[in-house]
Amino acid sequence: MTETVNVIGAGLVGCLTAIALAKRNFEVVLFDYRLDPRLKSTNDRNLRSINLAISARGITSLQYVDEQISQKVLKDMIPMWGRMIHDLAGNQESQNYGLFGECINSIDRSVLNNSLLDELDGFSNISVKFGHKLSRIQFSSAKQNCIFNTDAQDQVSFEADFVVGCDGAYSTTRSQMQREVRMDYSQEYIDCCYIELYIPPAEAHNAEFGGPFQISPNHLHIWPRHNYMLIALSNGDGSFTSTFFGPWSLVESLDSRDKIQTFLTDNFPDALKLMGPDTAIEAFERNPRGALMCVECNPYHLEQGRAIILGDAAHSMVPFYGQGMNCGFEDVKVLMQLLDKHEGDRSAAFDEYSLKRHKDLVSIIKLAKDNYKEMSHGVTSRLYLIRKKLDTL
Ligand code: FAD
Repeated sequence: MTETVNVIGAGLVGCLTAIALAKRNFEVVLFDYRLDPRLKSTNDRNLRSINLAISARGITSLQYVDEQISQKVLKDMIPMWGRMIHDLAGNQESQNYGLFGECINSIDRSVLNNSLLDELDGFSNISVKFGHKLSRIQFSSAKQNCIFNTDAQDQVSFEADFVVGCDGAYSTTRSQMQREVRMDYSQEYIDCCYIELYIPPAEAHNAEFGGPFQISPNHLHIWPRHNYMLIALSNGDGSFTSTFFGPWSLVESLDSRDKIQTFLTDNFPDALKLMGPDTAIEAFERNPRGALMCVECNPYHLEQGRAIILGDAAHSMVPFYGQGMNCGFEDVKVLMQLLDKHEGDRSAAFDEYSLKRHKDLVSIIKLAKDNYKEMSHGVTSRLYLIRKKLDTL
């Protein structure tokens, strides 16, 4: 008999999970509390960054799940061969990621999410229910009963053989599982706020960059200033999504337009010019201020193959290593490999997943935290040392 699964969360990881399970002949129902983001009427701009760096970890995981789908959903990504460091004087210095053309890639979050959602439509054994907010799960040895609040203000429940929680850092699936299993859990806010800013396209085609880009589209741009930094990743239309990261006390001390203007002019004069000073100051003042949080837990599943959490629900990490989504995609790959290895024995696959995956996830969460020092400070120190050395030659 066909087994049924409720996948909670139609974000990046939930969509890939639904595809991977549908390809293994499960009957999948995918839920999200949002409305369908592809509908024009949905004005649901996520606070999170609108473009992401996707790396080999994420790409190979997408390819593992479905080569053709990966080609389609990744067709607009822009390769970034290295970092471009912008110093205070406006000098730019390219630092390649590798000797052999290794790169990470910039991709629009909503384009990727919407393309994955489009792919779900091609599977007769996936149905998607937007406007359904998971509130509770009644676990049992036979069926798992998921209870949702819907937009119509009523409660509905859906039973399935098992549940996969891909419902992000504040996961309800996780908190429901914590009532059933002695799950170690920690949540840590780091003292860093992020604000999204925007660099518009150039007014004309820029022959050097092959498009209307004001700066190189093939670099991850960093304005490192030790305690804080600005970064920018390119978009296909010639614009860049830029993100400021800095301590909360600093951001909160910039409590007037004048202070923001002085701060940006003193620290990021070239970036301010690229953004347009008025727009940048207004965006800095008005745009939402995001908090950054790390979540660690263990195990990631309930025994008897009843439930498992993947993606940010299981491991939220700071974005400085650009690996949150990439790791979430890898979770899906690792889980599918184990389901295949155990020939569909979910219980054995989930047990081995928690056992095998925890060490890797703890390591990457730590690497992500450490990379803040590298991006905001290390890159400049190294430059400084190299320059100093050259000066003495
Ligand atoms: P989410 O994207 O959070 O999706 C969860 C989904 O679950 C949402 O659609 C939500 O609506 C739904 N949901 C939540 N609760 C419920 C509920 N109760 N009922 C029903 N539905 C629910 N990662 C990278 O790999 N590269 C990067 O460059 C990168 N840059 C980043 C920059 C910033 C500033 C930030 C904050 C993060 C960045 N990340 C990056 C991390 C990346 O955004 C996350 O790891 C990724 O979005 C996780 O995907 P997910 O599907 O697990 O969770």
